[in-house]
Amino acid sequence: MALPPPVRHLPLVPADATVDPARLAEGPREECGVFGVYAPGEDVAKLTYYGLYALQHRGQESAGMAVSDGRHITVAKDMGLVHQVFNESNLVALEGHLAIGHVRYSTTGSSSWANAQPQYRETPRGGQLALAHNGNLCNTADVARMLGSNGPPVGQPDPHRSPTAVNDSGLMASLLAASEDVSLEEAIVRTMPRLEGAYSLVIMDEQAIHAVRDPWGVRPLVLGRLPGGYVIASESAALDIVGAHELREVEPGEVVTIDRDGLRSRRFADAQQRFCLFEWVYLARPDHRQGGTSVYAVRREMGRRLASEAPVDADLVIPVPDSGTAAAAGYAEASGLPYAEGLVKNRYVGRTFIQPSQSLRQLGIRLKLNPLRSVIVGKRLVVVDDSIVRGNTSRELVRMLREAGALEVHLRITSPPITHPCYYGIDMATPAELIGAGLAVEQIRDFVGADSLHYLSLDGLIGSTPNSRPTLCTACFTGEYPIPVPCEQVGMGQVALDLEALAPSPR
Ligand code: AMP
Repeated sequence: MALPPPVRHLPLVPADATVDPARLAEGPREECGVFGVYAPGEDVAKLTYYGLYALQHRGQESAGMAVSDGRHITVAKDMGLVHQVFNESNLVALEGHLAIGHVRYSTTGSSSWANAQPQYRETPRGGQLALAHNGNLCNTADVARMLGSNGPPVGQPDPHRSPTAVNDSGLMASLLAASEDVSLEEAIVRTMPRLEGAYSLVIMDEQAIHAVRDPWGVRPLVLGRLPGGYVIASESAALDIVGAHELREVEPGEVVTIDRDGLRSRRFADAQQRFCLFEWVYLARPDHRQGGTSVYAVRREMGRRLASEAPVDADLVIPVPDSGTAAAAGYAEASGLPYAEGLVKNRYVGRTFIQPSQSLRQLGIRLKLNPLRSVIVGKRLVVVDDSIVRGNTSRELVRMLREAGALEVHLRITSPPITHPCYYGIDMATPAELIGAGLAVEQIRDFVGADSLHYLSLDGLIGSTPNSRPTLCTACFTGEYPIPVPCEQVGMGQVALDLEALAPSPR
């Protein structure tokens, strides 16, 4: 089927494929959003479009979907935001009753059309499959070797591998496609125990959708019901937006299959839940419900606890929008201090506006956040934000607030210092870029120029969530990685803070 530009119809897999395990070990690390819908009689492409729109905050570099009418899968994907990739005319061309979708946010340099998802493969028996992944594998080089042993040697032409297989998601798709003589459902159950790392997946063949969550349940994945079908999404907000009723989470170690016989579940591993603590802090939308608990309510509680852990004599509590909004309301509530909006966010400034020179970095932050002078002038401010990664945002904000007339700026952060990178799917920063890895809190306060700086304790943060510590991944705050990370990913030796490398995070 020919699709009008800018959407590209993924061609058949070329035969000049090579897979380089060394390159794969470096891995692109990304935070992404996935969506799936099985709903005969519904416009599934449109539903997927709306679902991806709701998940746009999880990935802004590429968007894509795969749609099947029961006989053929059509894949459409491109670089850009959901509304830049899809429009009325190209959505109309995507007919079918089952679909999966993906939004991707990769590290710089690995952002390419080939790595955009869904990843599409053909099987040796002429079947088709498409896969969308949120997370990051830790044994990617092993997976590449497995693929090599299942077919021609790595580097040799193989119609089941492709130049698209340059990351872990592409490799998973290739591995599933290479499973001969079994159904896709069976291939998933056999293949998943060989994977290590974080993976919340939606996978489809021509007739069924499979939702899969790694045994650690690092990334979220929820299941919902439509009057005539089922929906799967990274976050419950995407279910709300397409009018689906939330049923439950996909369990860690579970495969949920949806086809014309309805819904069935199989386990491929026992659950060892290690849900990402940073999803509660920053990643998920505040209107997501994780295991039935509102992220907004949890962030508000973080603010309350921060107020009791780190009170301050001040005039006004202001949030850094939007990531600090719920917590600032909680801080104000618990402290009795008035709450106001002291920073206005320009919602149309995207990541691409932030350039790697110091003056443009500052401009990027100023473009995004502008102080409301009339609110803050002459005030002693408590400024609440979710996290400090490299420290540039906080430093620029403190400077801007002082220039706008704030008397004092007391920074309150709803998570502990980030001291370790994430290898399970968040593009955080390298160890050398993480200000919390190299400097003590007082040194960070000095770097950002605040009058005082306090981070929420790990106990305070965990106590704000419904989870107990053993069921959470706290690696970015503690360095305790629940899933082994290969040393070539971790990088060896002492972490040194490279101030030159400090660059702003996109918000
Ligand atoms: P900075 O300290 O300048 O690196 O920026 C920290 C801010 O970036 C935090 O307040 C968050 O709102 C946001 N942030 C945190 N983690 C990420 C991430 N993985 N990707 C994009 N933005 C992030």
